[in-house]
Parts: sequence; C-alpha cells; structure tokens
Amino acid sequence: MRVFNFSAGPAALPETVLRRAADEMLDWRGSGMSVMEMSHRGEEFTSILHKAEADFRQLLKIPANYQVIFLQGGAMAMNALIPMNLMGRHRAADYVNTGVWSTKSIDEAKKYGQVNVVASSADRGFTYVPTQATWQTNSDAAYLHLCSNETIGGVEYHWVPEIGDVPLVADMSSNILSCEIEVSKFAVIYGGAQKNIGPAGLTFVIVREDLLDRALPITPSVFHWKEQAANDSMVNTPPTYSIYIAGLVFEWLLDNGGLPAMEKINVQKAALLYDYLDSTTFYTSPVSKDDRSRMNIPFHLHDERLNERFLSEASEQGLLQLKGHRSVGGMRASIYNAMPVEGVRALVDFLRAFEKIHG
Ligand SMILES: *Cc1c(COP(=O)(O)O)cnc(C)c1O
Repeated sequence: MRVFNFSAGPAALPETVLRRAADEMLDWRGSGMSVMEMSHRGEEFTSILHKAEADFRQLLKIPANYQVIFLQGGAMAMNALIPMNLMGRHRAADYVNTGVWSTKSIDEAKKYGQVNVVASSADRGFTYVPTQATWQTNSDAAYLHLCSNETIGGVEYHWVPEIGDVPLVADMSSNILSCEIEVSKFAVIYGGAQKNIGPAGLTFVIVREDLLDRALPITPSVFHWKEQAANDSMVNTPPTYSIYIAGLVFEWLLDNGGLPAMEKINVQKAALLYDYLDSTTFYTSPVSKDDRSRMNIPFHLHDERLNERFLSEASEQGLLQLKGHRSVGGMRASIYNAMPVEGVRALVDFLRAFEKIHG
C-alpha cells in the first residue's frame, strides 16, 4: 500500500513514474538491459540525457543562452562550487540570509572569498523574507546569492529581486518546477534533485553562458561548469539512473499541463493546509503570511506534549514523515508536486479529527 509521504527530501515521487521505471527495470525499451547497466556514452543513455535536458528546458522555458549541467554532490557541494565558479574576478559576494540553508551557503562561501550578508531575517527566527528595500547590496559583488525556498523554515520568495548587473544566484532545491519562473532574471539556478525532481545524487545547474569564464583556478574539473558544459555533463560518469528518473518526472509534468498546471494545484494545496491552520489556535504556523512556502509547511501544536501522539496517530492513518526538522521542532508537511490534493485533504481531515479529540 502506498502512503501519503510528507518527507522534505528525499521526497515522494509520482506513482506513474515509479511504475514506468519498474516496467523498464530489466529491459529498457528493447535494449535488453537496465538503464543502470548502460554505458553513459552509449547511444541509449545519450538519448535519455538529451531528452531529459530538452524536457527540463521546455518546462522552465530556459533561454538558449543558458547551459544546463547535471552534476553530483548535492546542493551542499554547490555552496563551495558557486564561489569557485564565480569568484574568479571579484573575491567578494553578497548573500541574503533567510534560514538554515542560506546560512550553510554563507558559511561555506567564506572559505573562498569575502562574504557580505546584505540582509538577514535572523532577528525574527528566520520566519520571513527581508524586503528588498532593506538590503545593503554591493554593486561590485561577484554575485548575489539567495535561497528561494527555505526547506526547513518554510519561507519562500514570491518575488524576484531586481539587482541590476550583479548576477543573481538562487538555490531552488525545494521549489524548482513548483511554479513558473522567469529564468532570464537569474544568472544561476541550482539545486539537488531529491525534493521536487527525482532521486538523490543528482544536482542541476542552469547557468548563463557569459558566466562560464569566471572560475577560480583551483576549481576541480568535474565541478568546473565550463568544462562540464563543453562535455555534455560527461567529464566523468554522471549519475545515470538519477538522470533517467528525473527525465521520467519531466515527462510526467509535461503530460500533466507543465508548470502552469502544477502552480495552480500547488497554490490550491497550500491554501487548503494554511487556511485550516489559520482557522484554529490548536495549531500555529510560524511564518509571515506573505512569505509562506507552498512546498514546506511547518506548524506547531499548541500543546507540544502531544507531538509524539500526533505523529503516531498520523502514521496509523498512512500520513508519514510529518516530524519537523530537529533544528526547529514541531511538524512539517512537505507537499511537493508529487503530493496529490487528496493527500493534503487527508492531512487536513486528520488535523481536524486530532484537534477534536485533544483540543
Ligand atoms: C536539501 C537542500 C539542500 C541540501 O541538498 P543536498 O543534496 O543534501 O546537498 C540545500 N538547499 C536547500 C534549499 C535544500 O532544500
């Protein structure tokens, strides 16, 4: 039996995708082998890679002057690779701090150059996005980095800053493909796959071509964007099976109306949950209304002594992985693209029933 899995990542995948992968496991389209067993430079896998990239481009309407690169190392490796690949000219960059993930990006970048934290929401426990009017940005920064969706804190940008000529770099690990975005407003978009794209082990980078010559000389070849772009992400062996599954997810998205359709459903799903949380004092949502994430929804029980009980009763109902991150406590429901509306409805029904008994 399939449960409703609210994990923040690795997260639920569409059942259609898993079934297709199962069907193709032993013999991928008459090749007589599994995708895992194929040479990454062979005709079959090359076609899988190219189709995945083309579909990713189509979903996000990625302009032709951007390269798409598939890497390993996760979004956390990118915390080092962003400064390595972009600080070749100016060894200073601007960072906006909105929570756990941007803090990690900041701490890692400090190893490679000067980091200026130009705005932070630490003053209110990372529960909002500081308005752009308060940012102390530097016009000569190598780039400005932000995290578009703080997976742990549940804080999301619903706007894109205008920062002139400074390249805008965004960690979109947990909200990529959840809504339409204008790629041309960003210089670099990156993330790990295991939230809203596919299996862990795959990292995507969307980078504007004119930024490919700014790497520090110490940048490892397998993480050097220019070398990877020139080699079709195959300087070394890419995470082939993860790319294949990501490709199936892209096809699933295209078959279901693409990002406009996803955005509509995601807005509806988030509203269902937030509206209920706001309608009662039994549960509270810590995040400022304008900056609430549609993907990761943290909440607290009014009486935290009920937490264990809440989690065990929820799992009896097939509602799993609702425990909040250890750094913030409470609960968190992650409702990425693969979470159907019925899953959110089931969760709201459970919240209501639990409150009725214990409220
Ligand atoms: C999960 C996550 C990361 C870390 O990803 P890894 O693949 O584990 O390195 C970084 N940033 C954000 C926003 C995340 O959600």
